[in-house]
Formats: sequence, C-alpha cells, structure tokens
Amino acid sequence: MSEGELRAWLLEVGESSWRAKQILEWVFDKGVNQWDEMTNLSLPLREKLSQSFALRALTLVKTSDSGDGQTFKYLWRMGDQKLVESVLICSEERRTVCVSSQVGCAARCAFCASGKKGLFRNLEAGEIVEQVLQLRSLGERVSHIVFMGMGEPLDNVDNVIQAVRILNEKVGLGKRRITVSTVGVVEGIERLTAEGLGVNLVLSLHAPNQHLRKKIIPYARQYPLEEVLDAMERFSQSSGRDVTYEYILISGINDGVAEAQELATLLKGRQCTVNLIPYNPVAGINFRRPSGTSVAHFREILDQQGIINTCRYTKGDDIAAACGQLALQESE
Ligand code: SAH
Repeated sequence: MSEGELRAWLLEVGESSWRAKQILEWVFDKGVNQWDEMTNLSLPLREKLSQSFALRALTLVKTSDSGDGQTFKYLWRMGDQKLVESVLICSEERRTVCVSSQVGCAARCAFCASGKKGLFRNLEAGEIVEQVLQLRSLGERVSHIVFMGMGEPLDNVDNVIQAVRILNEKVGLGKRRITVSTVGVVEGIERLTAEGLGVNLVLSLHAPNQHLRKKIIPYARQYPLEEVLDAMERFSQSSGRDVTYEYILISGINDGVAEAQELATLLKGRQCTVNLIPYNPVAGINFRRPSGTSVAHFREILDQQGIINTCRYTKGDDIAAACGQLALQESE
C-alpha cells in the first residue's frame, strides 16, 4: 500500500491518518515481523491491522549459494503456497537484487525456462517489494534492483509501478538504480513513459528483424518490432535516459555475421547500449551457447559500426539462477 492508501484506510476505520507514518516506519525502517512489535500504536489499532493485512507476505523456504560466492538464490513461499524466487548478485561495487514479478510467465519465449508452464498469477506490489525487504532484514545490503526474475513486468504493470514507487520512496533506492526489463509489451512501455517513472528500461530484443524475432518470441506477433522500437525511443526521449537492448546469443540462430550487421544497422543512431548474453542452458530446450570466438566476432562487428555493447558474464548458472533459468517451482 502507498502511504496515501494507508491514510485513507485509517480514516475509514476511525483512526488518525498520521498513524500511517508510524506504521510505515515500523515496516520499512525497523523491519518488524509482528504487529505487536508496533508498540506506539494502540492495541485496538494493532488488532485492526492484523485482521486486515498480512505484515509478511513471503516465507523463506530455501537459499542456494553459487560456487562463485557472488550469486545467491532465494526461494519464497507466499500466502497461497505459491513459490517464487529472487537472486542476489554481488560484485565489488554493486549488490543487485533480481526480483520476480509473476508466478510463471505468459510470454513463452522459446529459450526461457520461466514460461514453460505458462502464467499462474501476478505478484502483488507487496510481494515484489518484500523480496528486497526480507533480504535486507537478513542483513544483506542492496544497492540496485532489476526486474529480471520470473515474469513479464509489463504484463503486471500496475503492481510493478506501485512496487517501484515504494522501493524508491520507502526503501530509499534511487530510480536510476532500478531497472525494468521487458519482452516488448508496447502499451506497458507507453505507461512507463506516461507515468514518468524514471527507471532504466531494457528491451529483450534477441533478433535483428521481425521475421526471426517472431520465431523465438511469440509476443512479437502481437507487438511488431518497429512498434516496440518506437515505444522504446519515446521512453528514451521523454525520460532523457539511454535504453538498453538485450541480445541473447544462441548458436546458429541469431549469432552470425549477418545478424550482427543487421543489428548494427537497426540500432544505428539510437541512444542505446547492447547487452549481449551468451545463451544459458535450460533443461528441455535444444539451443546451444556459441563459442567464445564467435561471441568475440559478433562484438567486433558491433564495435566497428559504433554500437556500444557489453557482454554479460554469466553468474549463478550452477544453481539455475542465471538469466532464463528461473523455472516455476511447484510446492510439494
Ligand atoms: N520478461 C522480461 C524480464 C525477464 S528478464 C524480459 O523478457 O525482459 C530475463 C532476461 O533473460 C531476458 O532478457 C530474457 O530474454 C533472458 N533470457 C531468457 N532465457 C535465457 C537463456 N536461456 N539464456 C540467457 N538469457 C535468457
């Protein structure tokens, strides 16, 4: 809930609206786990709160540590027993939480584990925010958030916007430290532009033309490449921020010289960075990661054409926490 919504609720139940500040302080600054710990509230108010809200929406089920010592995966159980995962990725200068926005995913991209069983439900704003809050109460410092876990954030755009605002205003993470990644849901991108949300925006591009993109990303049929790129451009212009295009390199599918050249032509003159991700293996999917030489060759072509690009070093693949490897977890 936003502070405004909580104030309205307080008035409705006959309490003073300024109590909202106290309650939110307990939730976000002091990180209490029980309503009864909110000792500056009256007993009847604590009672009403406990009857109306869940203070904690996630229970930690399991943590996995990657052998690299820098990537940690957390499995949470929600009120309806559904399970969801987050990943903490540490580097020298950043501690990034990769949050999930849905249980499952409707996009069903050919290369990704998250959509294999379709979409189960959207996460609520609180369930998104709490992935970060709980890590903090486990003592983890968090410097950046990426909406790159399970789910398509812009298919759950209202809750994602609400979560971004709460993370920004109450958890104190600057909007420039928050990144939303999308498969290219045009109306969702337009929403972010209209709301002036000010986050970083990433498009999962993965192909240099509509023909190939449609083959590996079913959503491309509904959202043609040109329209998606136009929407990204409008976001970039109105927010004054460069956008990022993610491009998975899949051996023999989209990693050739011709695709590199086509990609450079497509993006020439746009204020953007290309982030290359060598494909991470997913059980049951028959794609392969290209060799190091072929990745280097692809980058060379982009470099020659003046396209700024980076290559994402894969972390956490030994615990199935790398991009595309978060699969739907079933409760026993
Ligand atoms: N639905 C959003 C958020 C998911 S972000 C989106 O599509 O952007 C996860 C990123 O990992 C996306 O860029 C996705 O395309 C990429 N990805 C999916 N499967 C992958 C795989 N097997 N190897 C590498 N990256 C993958």
